[in-house]
Amino acid sequence: MLDLEKVKRTKVVNQSTWSRDFLIRSEIVSAELENLRQRQFCYSSISHSINKRLKEIITFARINVPYYRNLKLIENNDPDSALGILSKFPFLTKDMVRSKLVDLCSDNITHIQLFKRSTSGTTGIPLTVVFDTHSINMHYAIFGRHLEQLGLNFTPLNKGRSFVIVGDSGLTRQSRLPLPGNPKQTRIVFHTKQPPEKKKTQLIKLIKLNPEILNGKPTVLLYLGKFLNKSNMECFSKLKFVITGGEILRPETRHHLEDLFDVHVYDTYGMRETGTIACECLKQDGLHFCPDYMYIEILNSHNSNKKLGEIVLTDLVNHAMPLIRYRTGDLSKINSKKCSCGVEYPRLSPLLGRIIYYFEKNDGSLYNPFPMSKTLDKLGFAQYQVIQMNANYIEFRYVIDQIKPDLNRAIRAIRRLCGNVKVECIEMDHIKEQLKYSNFISHAPNPFRN
Ligand SMILES: [Zn+2]
Repeated sequence: MLDLEKVKRTKVVNQSTWSRDFLIRSEIVSAELENLRQRQFCYSSISHSINKRLKEIITFARINVPYYRNLKLIENNDPDSALGILSKFPFLTKDMVRSKLVDLCSDNITHIQLFKRSTSGTTGIPLTVVFDTHSINMHYAIFGRHLEQLGLNFTPLNKGRSFVIVGDSGLTRQSRLPLPGNPKQTRIVFHTKQPPEKKKTQLIKLIKLNPEILNGKPTVLLYLGKFLNKSNMECFSKLKFVITGGEILRPETRHHLEDLFDVHVYDTYGMRETGTIACECLKQDGLHFCPDYMYIEILNSHNSNKKLGEIVLTDLVNHAMPLIRYRTGDLSKINSKKCSCGVEYPRLSPLLGRIIYYFEKNDGSLYNPFPMSKTLDKLGFAQYQVIQMNANYIEFRYVIDQIKPDLNRAIRAIRRLCGNVKVECIEMDHIKEQLKYSNFISHAPNPFRN
């Protein structure tokens, strides 16, 4: 049985030390990649496989995982309907994953097969998820397949590939991905607070790597692109496209990035708890996900998957720590219509924000504050934050650089969306960046925030 000490000693995913079974994984990833290539154009095979995998993971979890075993779910569910059984499971929150880490790990898995990833968490409290080797292989196969849909082909002959992730914190590191041809992936750190000399060194490093793909948060890539533009250094001759993730990709940011890097930008959705889940295709009209790898429900008051709501995940692959009905806090809706690219996997609509940032009305319903950024972004504040203290009272915190923005226009933009509420404007020297910076914060009670 796994205990906390063993979890602590478990290998961490994504280190350069791919260990002795590197090649085995690379072979498995190739086989899974081939599977994904064939299945994505045939909906009947996908739906059959969803049902089979859902049943399998649910049965496994109820027998082998203490948390699910102790739920003592009623047995007399329709054995043919995996979805019926799934609907009986309670939702799993991030706090529960934090506090029940060992209880959520399977008894029936050996320590040697395990890897882990930890997130710092939006709240700053770490969250750890343990994976088995097979699920890690699947993460890479799915990531590889998404890239193939965007025009890269993975064969063992494609040697010498270079991908770069641009991060805004942490360490620079390099690894070989267990995809055919073993592309080199380098993580480079680039952020606003680095001294100019350091930024220049990082940029030179990046240009030397001459990546085929640049990957990062939209705001980090935008900053990098602008810096690159000013520096007049030569650009990347091999760059095929840019992929973004980790934050909302706004349409204007996409246009900016496409201008700066002179390639298309595609958005992805994923998290450290699961790996990449969904990615845009060449049509840039929603993010395809593999539903027999990650089953997605949309949680909303209408109980309908077609409406906007919170993304709830069931990981159908990871047996080391099965996440069943895991609440992500991210907002989207599912589009099951066939995409014009030909792929039959369903799509998530572009992400609309995180539920924790939603504002609340007097009647308790929630609304998205992000549309007011259209006006506020244009007014010239160096920084701003709209904080809902309660349904009737908003604090507008702002930092002025050189120009003096029109505060009355800002207040009008806030009231257009929030109604005739009290708006207090507070000038500040600096707004402290949180782990995930947001222009909108609500302190009003929100049932989804926990
Ligand atoms: Zn498509």
